[in-house]
Amino acid sequence: MKSSSKPSFSKQLLAWFDVAGRKDLPWQQDITPYRVWVSEIMLQQTQVATVIDYYQRFMARFPTVQSLADAPSDDVLALWTGLGYYARARNLHKAAKMVCDEFDGEFPHDHDLLQQLPGVGRSTAAAIYSIACKGRAPILDGNVKRVLTRYAAIDGWPALKHVESQLWDLAEELTPDKRVADYTQAIMDLGATLCTRSKPQCPSCPVQNNCQSYANNTQTDYPGKKPKKQIPTRQVHMLIIENNQGEILLEQRPNSGIWGGLWSFPEAANADELDHYIDQNLGANSTKQHWPLMRHTFSHFHLDITPVHIRLHSEINTVMEAKQQLWYKGHPEQQVGLAAPVKKLLDAVFSSDLLREAPL
Ligand code: SF4
Repeated sequence: MKSSSKPSFSKQLLAWFDVAGRKDLPWQQDITPYRVWVSEIMLQQTQVATVIDYYQRFMARFPTVQSLADAPSDDVLALWTGLGYYARARNLHKAAKMVCDEFDGEFPHDHDLLQQLPGVGRSTAAAIYSIACKGRAPILDGNVKRVLTRYAAIDGWPALKHVESQLWDLAEELTPDKRVADYTQAIMDLGATLCTRSKPQCPSCPVQNNCQSYANNTQTDYPGKKPKKQIPTRQVHMLIIENNQGEILLEQRPNSGIWGGLWSFPEAANADELDHYIDQNLGANSTKQHWPLMRHTFSHFHLDITPVHIRLHSEINTVMEAKQQLWYKGHPEQQVGLAAPVKKLLDAVFSSDLLREAPL
């Protein structure tokens, strides 16, 4: 990287931002560390267009860090339903409690202390610190990694340690001393609007004169791809147990593991376990039908779900003995956090009589 690149990169980027940057996103209004923090967590792995509605609902329900800290975790997870990566919501809740308990309800104006909050890594802490506290710290989120790998033609998958450390060095080098809040927003905007994944708009890019991949016409070779690896498949039967009031049995999952703390259906690992569950808990009191298989893919495995709709013909009590169960009515006021496939299956139960009538 030429030594003249640093000032020209930030200067060109800021000049472009002044004219073309986004300035009307909800988290760019009434800027506080709390509001910036929530937006940054929601924006991890999620696009701006998806986040906006979630963000506004979340802020309406939890306008302050104290209101978030005081809320039951079910309320927090309910507002996250559909956004995915639920560990983010659980960490958000934990971090809000930590801010209230250990920092008197004020976010620390310190880049290192911000990184001690659950779910806040170096880049997220830098975004909060630069945008809301006006301090200088470089960011390196997914969009910025794409811009920088292309700008300096840095090879290799950015999650590899040696690649990531080159990227941090470059991010540090390019971040200006002044207008850091605008610069942070500007480099995120550049990645989101011009230096996009599949069709970068290089002729309109403010930093194209020094961009090495543009000069070599190799933009889409960057960032380097993740080395491919096969991920395993797991199987599960989800038991959609419906009582004679039209309510569905849900169980709260343990806090750790997949969908931790969310509400889901009772499960059986295979057909034998399913029959055993029915014998033990429901007996001859029920009829069942299998629905088509659904696949849900996590980063490290596929989950093949066989939904089994079980209708009870009279009241039963046995399955209600465990405390963390509820009969879900599907009313909007009965808000609980639901994983995406569970929500999809509940929507099918509550919206389509056809599915109930026709065994598959
Ligand atoms: S010139 Fe193209 S590849 Fe280079 S930073 Fe700009 S948009 Fe990205």
